[in-house]
Amino acid sequence: MVVVGAGIVGAATCYFLSKRGFRVRLIEAAAPAAAASGAADGAVSVASKRPGPMMTAALAGIALYRQLEQDGLFAGLFKSRPTVMVAENEKEAERLVEHAAALASEGMGLRYFEGGALRRHLPGVAPHVRLAVEVGEEGHAIGYEIVRRLIAASGVTVERGVAVTGLGPKDDGSGATAVRTALGVVEADHVVIAAGGGSAALLGLPHATQPRKGQLVVTERSPALAASLPGSLMSCRYLLSKDAIRVASAETGRRFGLVIDPLRTGQFLIGSTREERDDTGNDHDAVSRLLASAVKLMPALARLRVIRVFAGVRTATRDGLPIVGRMPGFENLLVATGFEGDGICLGPLIGREIARMVAGETTELDLTPFAPGRFELRSLVA
Ligand SMILES: Cc1cc2nc3c(=O)[nH]c(=O)nc-3n(C[C@H](O)[C@H](O)[C@H](O)COP(=O)(O)OP(=O)(O)OC[C@H]3O[C@@H](n4cnc5c(N)ncnc54)[C@H](O)[C@@H]3O)c2cc1C
Repeated sequence: MVVVGAGIVGAATCYFLSKRGFRVRLIEAAAPAAAASGAADGAVSVASKRPGPMMTAALAGIALYRQLEQDGLFAGLFKSRPTVMVAENEKEAERLVEHAAALASEGMGLRYFEGGALRRHLPGVAPHVRLAVEVGEEGHAIGYEIVRRLIAASGVTVERGVAVTGLGPKDDGSGATAVRTALGVVEADHVVIAAGGGSAALLGLPHATQPRKGQLVVTERSPALAASLPGSLMSCRYLLSKDAIRVASAETGRRFGLVIDPLRTGQFLIGSTREERDDTGNDHDAVSRLLASAVKLMPALARLRVIRVFAGVRTATRDGLPIVGRMPGFENLLVATGFEGDGICLGPLIGREIARMVAGETTELDLTPFAPGRFELRSLVA
């Protein structure tokens, strides 16, 4: 077995395959969690999803985090907490009511807060906030900690700094696929491409994915302030930034969501932008706008110092759904990429499902909507 990419999806695939007794080689161009999985917020959340395959997957993803925490694998790494979606104006309130109805129709347990009840539940939020809807049973995990735990538990040594440069037929004439690296050709019974933004080029799907950058801010610790929030605070602007209702600024093509996440450490993680770019730099304009909107929503944050800013690049797809499954026409070649802003939530689940496919079992999650065959393949195996 060869798994390409040691982000959360590759690490989870490696873990679940190893657990089933497969011998796995995990090949990574840089280092574990070097890309999106090491530069994410870490919401394990269904709150912002629309009913449909992504909501179904997110619910299953959260359930798996809980199970793996109880089993001990994720002990100490998964923080259970709700997401509180807040509307700061009339337009957002309308959007929130509509979104909450969709969540409720899927059986999600919600709590609504307005007026005095809102002030008592969220004492730190600004008085202009009109409506809050709390989505329970969610959580948070730091991507690189999950990656580290999965790889350690798999017992596999990551082959770091080894970029896969292409795919080609195995020498045995079986028609199966092997991977080419700078160190030579690696053959395997199965190849799983979980290379995030590097996957599409390897698979002849460059037209199917696109990079989407996000900038994030971390504050110093303030345990008392963090404890005043029951969970992460998600402005409805986040929904709008994920929506078809694009609020991109004409000059930059950026969208600004806002999530204020109180971490286990008492720090706050504040994010994030959605920018159609492929770089990991931070800029003053984005950071200051994120901070200004965070302070507007939760004024006491103004007292805290910023200790870190960073950026990561999500791998988005043209139709908003990830690409997971067997590559059409290639029995031993599978792909799992295109998780945009949901890969921390979905990574372990997808790793488990890929391991099921490799073992010839039926997946628990219906992966049909994510099938790679929905995109046209271009010159896959050279
Ligand atoms: C700012 C930001 C905020 C986010 N917030 C959240 C959130 O709150 N909740 C959530 O669920 N998700 C969130 N995400 C999304 C999440 O981080 C990603 O969806 C997830 O990490 C993708 O994991 P992956 O394993 O598919 O890819 P990656 O983590 O990108 O890993 C791919 C790996 O493959 C390697 N690679 C690439 N090409 C090759 C090659 N040719 N050969 C060998 N190796 C290769 C790379 O070096 C990399 O290590 C966020 C992302 C960003 C950027």
